[in-house]
Amino acid sequence: MSTVANRFAVFLRFAVVATMALVCLAAGALAEGAPVATDGRVVGDDNRTRFVLDLSGEVDLSAFTLAEPYRVVIDLPEIDFRLPSGTGSTGRGLVSDWRYGQFAAGRSRIVLDVTGPVKIDKAFVLPAVEDQPARMVLDLLKTTAAAFEEDLRKNQLARDSANEAPVQKADQLPPPDRSKREKPLIVIDAGHGGVDSGTISASGILEKDIVLAFAKKLQERLEQTGKVAVLLTRTDDTFLPLGARVQFGRDHAADLFLSIHADSEHEGSVRGATVYTLSDKASDREAAALAAKENASDLIAGLDLQQDADGVTDILVDLTRRETRNFSAAFANGLVGDLASATRMIKNPRRSAGFQVLRAHDVPSVLVEIGYLSNDQDEKLLTSDEWRSRVADAVTQAVLRFFGQKYAYLGK
Ligand SMILES: [Zn+2]
Repeated sequence: MSTVANRFAVFLRFAVVATMALVCLAAGALAEGAPVATDGRVVGDDNRTRFVLDLSGEVDLSAFTLAEPYRVVIDLPEIDFRLPSGTGSTGRGLVSDWRYGQFAAGRSRIVLDVTGPVKIDKAFVLPAVEDQPARMVLDLLKTTAAAFEEDLRKNQLARDSANEAPVQKADQLPPPDRSKREKPLIVIDAGHGGVDSGTISASGILEKDIVLAFAKKLQERLEQTGKVAVLLTRTDDTFLPLGARVQFGRDHAADLFLSIHADSEHEGSVRGATVYTLSDKASDREAAALAAKENASDLIAGLDLQQDADGVTDILVDLTRRETRNFSAAFANGLVGDLASATRMIKNPRRSAGFQVLRAHDVPSVLVEIGYLSNDQDEKLLTSDEWRSRVADAVTQAVLRFFGQKYAYLGK
């Protein structure tokens, strides 16, 4: 008896450990013992500004500047940020605001938006003394645009590191052959993540969290049908550049790429869901403004943007692009109907604009803004599990119908 009891105790202990490990994974958890950041502040004036971060221990850091717009990037090892909510939304002196978060596995990043050209005068970490925590200190000085440019040239290496963002390569093999697949593959792309929070509601709810929760629910519902396979571009609170999201869909030769976002508006009365496809010319002014906002994700995360123009003029690429856009539009049109039966829609819910994340020429791609975090009623819905399930079911309906029709069309 006692042996059985012992075994059971061992099993229980194992089960508890396994569950804890799962919980850590689910939270995209930080490595144990990551230094904790407890507070951050900006002091100084328009000529000299100091940024201070309180930490539980010393860390190595590297800092560099970026232009268009002027930013200062601080790269750090993994940090467990436990700052009071709203920290960074206002600045002082040369710093207008700042943000922080995970940038890639094992790496954290702080991005300061600055009011003009600045020079990093000093960057150092003070060890903890008596009751004072360790502190990371960055001193900025106002400089001229010309001197800033000169610094940029000298620090090309640091700028290159700005783009060492996590590019998730599926593998080095050519994309899988879609025609040999048993089930269509849907890639769900939860917008933003890590250092890029996306939009923030008045009560402090972050878009990056809302859309990740929705993406996971949608994955669950789609997989339950047994009729499609699903992959997520991100499964935790990590930043992912727009180009890496597009590449993820292409590397896996996704049959459908669904990018999930939540919007905000100055007017709190605007609410409801919107379905977007890619177009060279935006359907309306709001859509153009939204695309500009969503396209700024890389910039917000402190990436050095070099526009790689899509200058491909291959006729086959053009043909594929046209077909892809037709499929995207067909899915988007159907989706509007299904969504309307499950949740409130904005006026003219079928819109288009130049979203970077929808640019794959060979993957049908649609972006859904599931609601407005700036609207109190929408915010309640967006944070409700019941609503999430209902809307995920509606999207699932649209997906199944789309592939039913598409495969009929392709003669499968
Ligand atoms: Zn967004």
